[in-house]
Amino acid sequence: MSNYEDIFKKVVSHAKEYGYVFQSSEIYDGLAAAYDYGPNGVELKNNIKNYWWKSMVNMHENIVGLDSSIFMHPTTWKASGHIDAFNDPLVDNKDSKKRYRADVLIEDHIAKIEAKIDKDVLKAKKRFGDGFNKEEFLTTNGRILDRQKQIDTINEKMNTSLSSGNLEKVKSLIEELDIKCPVSGSNNWTDVRQFNLMFKTQMGATADGSADLYLRPETAQGIFVNFLNVQKTARMKIPFGIAQIGKAFRNEIVARQFIFRMREFEQMEMQFFVRPGEEMKWYDYWKDFRMKWHNSLAMGEDNYRFHDHENLAHYANAATDIEFKFPFGFKELEGIHSRTDFDLKAHQEHSGKKLQYFDPELGESYVPYVVETSIGLDRMFLTVLSNSFHEEELENGESRVVLKIPAVLAPLKAAILPLTKKDGMPEKAREIMKMLQIDFNCQYEEKDSIGKRYRRQDAIGTPFCITVDHQTLEENTVTLRDRDTMKQERISVDKLQTIIAEKVNISNYLG
Ligand code: ATP
Repeated sequence: MSNYEDIFKKVVSHAKEYGYVFQSSEIYDGLAAAYDYGPNGVELKNNIKNYWWKSMVNMHENIVGLDSSIFMHPTTWKASGHIDAFNDPLVDNKDSKKRYRADVLIEDHIAKIEAKIDKDVLKAKKRFGDGFNKEEFLTTNGRILDRQKQIDTINEKMNTSLSSGNLEKVKSLIEELDIKCPVSGSNNWTDVRQFNLMFKTQMGATADGSADLYLRPETAQGIFVNFLNVQKTARMKIPFGIAQIGKAFRNEIVARQFIFRMREFEQMEMQFFVRPGEEMKWYDYWKDFRMKWHNSLAMGEDNYRFHDHENLAHYANAATDIEFKFPFGFKELEGIHSRTDFDLKAHQEHSGKKLQYFDPELGESYVPYVVETSIGLDRMFLTVLSNSFHEEELENGESRVVLKIPAVLAPLKAAILPLTKKDGMPEKAREIMKMLQIDFNCQYEEKDSIGKRYRRQDAIGTPFCITVDHQTLEENTVTLRDRDTMKQERISVDKLQTIIAEKVNISNYLG
């Protein structure tokens, strides 16, 4: 097992042990690709939502919110193209009977070549020492250039065959690259077929009188069909945005990697309506803005990168992903898409209702263009969790596991710990808890030794531990322990509120 897989396994079991994420219906051996968020998980999730909502909605005068229903009129999905085109190419291995996404098999093959490049770089770095110039090595070394050329050729072949819907060519590419099934080890593949990712269900009491509905595969369509309702009632002028957080459902062919790819998940989306012709300006604006949002959490700028799409979805004229370095490599965390006027026009045609905006400055009506930002809440959760997981050796020879979650997102902001259960310490601790809990999510804990309680709060990722001892009762001071530095400071109870606020308040991050 590689070090990364090892760490990922630890993150998954840590998430369970500390009440972050449980397998859905675990007592029935679980349901594939569905997960439940535990007491700490739901707090982290809410904090991420709030961090996004604050920055996108509350801090933009021209963006407003919406909460549209999951069920929508079935024609919505005809108009949006999801019935005809929301497909993934699937392929089965005849020996293992395992099913794969054909494009993912090819992407994994590319990732292996990328890993070889990384290895070559490491070797060269060792050989050349301080004089090593990575940029020069990458652009001049023959072997690296060959590998890069291989990657480019595979990408080009995959993109042209996928975008033209030529599934035979996708299969030939898998054969040409001699891609083997990781389970059976054989290259005995079926033909590649299209598979629609939408879940179907029925609404209504009787079988014949009921209508076929779909569980929405994205929240965006709820925004498009409400475009005029929102624009008129909130009196919005273009450019303006509508944002929403909500569940989406996709019958993923292969759902792996914990909460990275689920069949039921949550999206945080914002559709920004602009004048036709101005979409590229706003596309660049939102690319930049969203990357800054990620970096505001200080989880390492090198952990993010843009990946521009060559194989564009049916509705887009430009698209990029913000990728994050998960324990299993760089993968999509957020998509930024220039969706043109595709969706509004399609809903206009299918509904027979005008979805236009009268631009008072231009003195004309038009169907606006749309730039969207779409981030998976669960993927963002995994980003925070995997990035903050650390195993540390301490000076005294012990070790600890600590979640260095950005303080603004941490589920608990402070733990209040009476040193012992007697001499009035629990009462004093509860008093402090009462004072702080209106502003910060706090936990009171009196069980176990103080050292054990510190370790537990480190493992949950609580930025502060407040210990109440004999001195507290005498002079109204406590020890305040910092999660990351483990430094302890004696401070007055009156200062707690200000010190915690300085570390955890959202204004320190987004201000
Ligand atoms: P992928 O290529 O990984 O399947 P996508 O390009 O289909 O993702 P989008 O349609 O752009 O994804 O959706 C926007 C965001 O929703 C993604 O960036 C991702 O964070 C999230 N997302 C999409 N599918 C899933 C899923 N099955 N589980 C969890 N999050 C998802």
